[in-house]
Amino acid sequence: MTSAGASLAPGRRRIGIDVGGTKCLGVVLDEHGAVIDEQRRDTPKGPDAIIDTLVELAGSLGQADSVGVGVPGLVARNGVLRAAPNLVDINDFEVGALLFARLGIDVQVDNDATCAAVAEWKLGAARGATECVMVTLGTGVGGGIVAGGQLIRGANGFTGEIGHMVVDPDGPPCPCGRRGCWERYASGSGLGRLAREAAEGKRLQRVVALAGGDAEQVRGEHVQAAAREGDAEALQVIDDFGRWVALGLANLTNVLDPALFVLGGGLAASSDLYLGPIQSWFSRLLYAPHLRPHPALVFAQLGTRAGAVGAALLADVH
Ligand SMILES: [Zn+2]
Repeated sequence: MTSAGASLAPGRRRIGIDVGGTKCLGVVLDEHGAVIDEQRRDTPKGPDAIIDTLVELAGSLGQADSVGVGVPGLVARNGVLRAAPNLVDINDFEVGALLFARLGIDVQVDNDATCAAVAEWKLGAARGATECVMVTLGTGVGGGIVAGGQLIRGANGFTGEIGHMVVDPDGPPCPCGRRGCWERYASGSGLGRLAREAAEGKRLQRVVALAGGDAEQVRGEHVQAAAREGDAEALQVIDDFGRWVALGLANLTNVLDPALFVLGGGLAASSDLYLGPIQSWFSRLLYAPHLRPHPALVFAQLGTRAGAVGAALLADVH
């Protein structure tokens, strides 16, 4: 076992910026990985305005040896954001080259979920791990993979699009253009959809009441609130959700044989509700469960700053 992931290159001041659909979060890390400054900006529309915002934000965060940027979409190895469904007018956006031209220092760009994985690997729940998968359970499902002590990037840089593993080819449509992707089930929006399906036929009365009496308005948060009250039908939806999460984790285990899964994203804030069902189903769905130590399931530690912190660390892992 190596100590990969347990240390940072010394003497560097790193800026990391997480570009979200509505906000950009910038942080500065000291040489030990501690956040010593952070600032937010609204995410503007269009590539030119985004570059201006990133340059201004980096400038106000001060001198640095490197800038890393996490963006929501498919990022090629040369720092080009090829597509970003949640940003306006973004296709083949040369984030890395444009920022380098303006800032004149080392610029690295990667997918936002990959950045979160780097943060948890270097400084959080997967610190020191050589075989781990980070799974971000938010509006969608993203991922980052560490194997053999290295961040895996793939031939094009597109590794870790685990939310678009198809788990039911006849399932609900996905914005990616296909059907039955894992994130249609195992995300926050997937939880809401599972609940709305369960609410058909006048089930889930408490959950529907929390949604103002309209079954069409049921969201994941209403299921969570009812489950916390002990509502049996809501807990059944949580259990079903846990089965879908575990199914994807079991599939990933067949491919990657990780020692550890780190579960992050918005749903990690309610980890107490989900961990039991996910663990129970994972044990049942795992291939050859009696022949292997079961991968550990842990929740992320770095919260909503993970993407920005990981972006700051890209220069250390690319
Ligand atoms: Zn998809």
